[in-house]
Amino acid sequence: MKNFLPFTRPTLDAETISGVVEVLNSGWLASGPQVVSFEEELAKYLGGNRTVRSLNSGTAALETALILCGIGPGDEVIVPAMTFVATANVVVRTGAKPVFVDVELESRNLDLNQLEAAITPRTRAIMPVHLAGLPVDLDSLYQIAERHGLRVIEDAAQAIGSSFAGRKIGSCGDLVCFSFHPNKNMTTIEGGALSVGSNVSVEQLEKLRFHGISRNSEGEMDVSIVGDKLNLSDVAARIGLGQLKRLDEFNAKRRILASRYFELLASDPPGVLPARGDSGHNWHMFTILLPFDQLGLTRVEFQKIMHDKGIGVGVHYPALHLFSLYRAMGYREGQFPNAERIGRETVTLPLFPAMDSSDVDRVCDTLRETLSAGMA
Ligand SMILES: *Cc1c(COP(=O)(O)O)cnc(C)c1O
Repeated sequence: MKNFLPFTRPTLDAETISGVVEVLNSGWLASGPQVVSFEEELAKYLGGNRTVRSLNSGTAALETALILCGIGPGDEVIVPAMTFVATANVVVRTGAKPVFVDVELESRNLDLNQLEAAITPRTRAIMPVHLAGLPVDLDSLYQIAERHGLRVIEDAAQAIGSSFAGRKIGSCGDLVCFSFHPNKNMTTIEGGALSVGSNVSVEQLEKLRFHGISRNSEGEMDVSIVGDKLNLSDVAARIGLGQLKRLDEFNAKRRILASRYFELLASDPPGVLPARGDSGHNWHMFTILLPFDQLGLTRVEFQKIMHDKGIGVGVHYPALHLFSLYRAMGYREGQFPNAERIGRETVTLPLFPAMDSSDVDRVCDTLRETLSAGMA
């Protein structure tokens, strides 16, 4: 459809594309010099003297982080009930149990007031998610973690370029995981990264990423643990280098578009708007909650009408504990009311750097038109 506005779209510039062609012609396609410089540039961007290693997805970064913390069968890990399902799935994959905690309605982030009640003698780690790029209160969170001797694995898949109280997400903290999926604020097509502090063994991380292989000073290979195959390609890393250069510009544009949404929606909100956060929000998504049970139309019908009028609307996300996998572990409806309400009512409106303010106006006009037709 001409003029169709998707809910998100990556921006790849000509310089990046010609850089990729150079890599393709270089004879070195898998992990090599581009990966090394991508990791250096990421570490520089994040600041805080961190070690940063790339992986082939955000999910791989999360799972590797759990293994680096020694988490496995018999352990519990605290996860918000409202996030992308990968956050909890990786816990299950290690053999540990995800213990869900509800989120706040406005921020859609882990409710820190309910966190301590979920801690048991088996709890080993907390996995906060900076949902839509809005940072969790890291001061309070790390205080709780310290008090209980817990590791923290930040799911910062959506939070590249965000900061909390002036500190960039990934510049501090325990283990911080990023994703560079095409829907995120910067992309390597598929890819991710792990930013770790000095308490994490980088040697172990590199072994886990690549077959458990280590090499001595002569270059001879040994294998001491069962590693996985999670390395990023040089082609992907070259895309990441081009994206990283423009990340702050992309995020500034997202902030302007988000302000326009608030300008148009705040005086007569059609539902619950997202928390504004402070200037550290990277505006990965703009999500509003619409009371579909009062609107006379379902979310699927709403999405279809919006789509037919040229506007893409996403759903991020259904509440995790209501998926069959987690119901089979004993989770039930009614346990996490905010996550459940968000899961039923959330819609993601278009927001990406190549949009302009008039696109936001078009989205809001179409939104009001669709909702008033639904009410009629
Ligand atoms: C995208 C995302 C992931 C997974 O990242 P991939 O790169 O797709 O593996 C994990 N958690 C959250 C919150 C995400 O948004």
